[in-house]
Amino acid sequence: MFPRPWRISITLKLLAWCIALLAVTYATSTLLVARTEEAVDGSAQLMRVNHELDVAIVRLVRQLEQMEGHRKTYEYLNGDEIYLEYVIDDLLEFRRLLEETMVSFPWLREDWGPLTEEYAITLKKGGDPVRLLGPGRTVALWLDILERTRLDNQERMQLRLKELRAGARQAAETGRLGLLMAIGIGLGGSLLLAWRLNSSLRELMRGIHDFGRFARTTPVVVKSRDELGELAGAFNRLTARLEREERMRSEFIAMLSHEIRTPLTSIRESVELVADGTLGGVVEEQKQFLDIARHESDRLAALLTRLMKVSSLEAGELEVELRAEDPAALVREALERIAPVARAVSIALVPGILEGLPPVLADAGHVGQVLLNLLGNAIKFSPPGSEVRLDVTAGEGEVVFTVTDQGPGIPEEDREFVFQKYYRGDDAKKSVDGAGLGLSICRIIAEAHGGLIRIESGPGRGSRFLFSLKTA
Ligand code: ADP
Repeated sequence: MFPRPWRISITLKLLAWCIALLAVTYATSTLLVARTEEAVDGSAQLMRVNHELDVAIVRLVRQLEQMEGHRKTYEYLNGDEIYLEYVIDDLLEFRRLLEETMVSFPWLREDWGPLTEEYAITLKKGGDPVRLLGPGRTVALWLDILERTRLDNQERMQLRLKELRAGARQAAETGRLGLLMAIGIGLGGSLLLAWRLNSSLRELMRGIHDFGRFARTTPVVVKSRDELGELAGAFNRLTARLEREERMRSEFIAMLSHEIRTPLTSIRESVELVADGTLGGVVEEQKQFLDIARHESDRLAALLTRLMKVSSLEAGELEVELRAEDPAALVREALERIAPVARAVSIALVPGILEGLPPVLADAGHVGQVLLNLLGNAIKFSPPGSEVRLDVTAGEGEVVFTVTDQGPGIPEEDREFVFQKYYRGDDAKKSVDGAGLGLSICRIIAEAHGGLIRIESGPGRGSRFLFSLKTA
């Protein structure tokens, strides 16, 4: 066999699935960590800027308050020069602080425009800053602007914090989604993998089961290119070979049966001629041996007939002519034909109630054969003096024939084999006659009718064979 073009082993499938799972988990956690770091860094930065600006504003406000204090003292002391010096120093210090703050926070330059302008005017005029910085005017205005800046800063921080919170929420959401995806991939992947492996295994089991039961099977179909696919291919090749060999064996047996039948017929006829005295008188002792020879050749002929029948049935030559038949009539005829055999071994044949049954679709000759085989086995395996029942019940769209005996029953482990060709139970091999063909003929006939044949039995509890036919 040529190797398949490519093959994905089960291990490789498991590996690919694991890698996919790890990739999603890794991507999710990396994203989550990155977003969290971003949020933490952002808030730390925000806090720092906000704090520094607050401190700067407090210093500016204090400077203004100090200047106000000096100005008031200057007024109170009616123009003490030293306090005027203080006021001017305070103003210069205020300017320095202002510049420093605006360098650190450049965006304030625009907001603080009026503040610097006012300040410039104040110094440019060169006049009495105390007069120019009259209460309720410049200083109040400056304090106002500083307070507004502080409030703006708070507001901006709140806004930014809100944004960071939203970002963190989104990161958490992404994390949750990633986690769900990982769980989904994990669960979905496991289920898919398990389902595919299971369906391949189920299909293989079907093939093995069919082959074990019927010694033939339709090829198993496993499309996966893994070990199970290869196993299915090997199984199909094996069953095809076994089926071919089985066919050859059947053909050989059929041919041999044919070949033996002709000389057997000659032997039988010759024995009959001698036994009948056509060729001269025979003494009683000779007659006894001739009877044995006749009996044995009859047995051999019956065995050959069965062998040929099973071969022809297997070759698909069973053509059933389905007609609406009365199940009661089929049962009565079978019981009538088997009655002498039962009588010979003191077995009572008990038919169930045979009234009110719907007609069934059956080929009377073949169905009669099934009933005879089942009844024949029941009689064969039952102890003398016991009872064999043949019940008929009407089910939904079918009629079920049940043959029950009080024989040894069939052990659980043998039940799946009894419908196979040539199968004979261990006890049967030792004690009763047979070639293991009767039940396999029954199965082929039952299947050709679209019906079922099955067994209910336990060792020591007797056997019960059920055979169903569709109603007409
Ligand atoms: P045979 O012609 O040898 O009886 P069958 O195909 O009819 O072959 O039966 C196959 C085997 O099934 C028998 O050898 C026997 O072991 C078992 N079997 C069939 N019918 C019965 C029964 N009524 N009670 C117990 N065993 C049975």
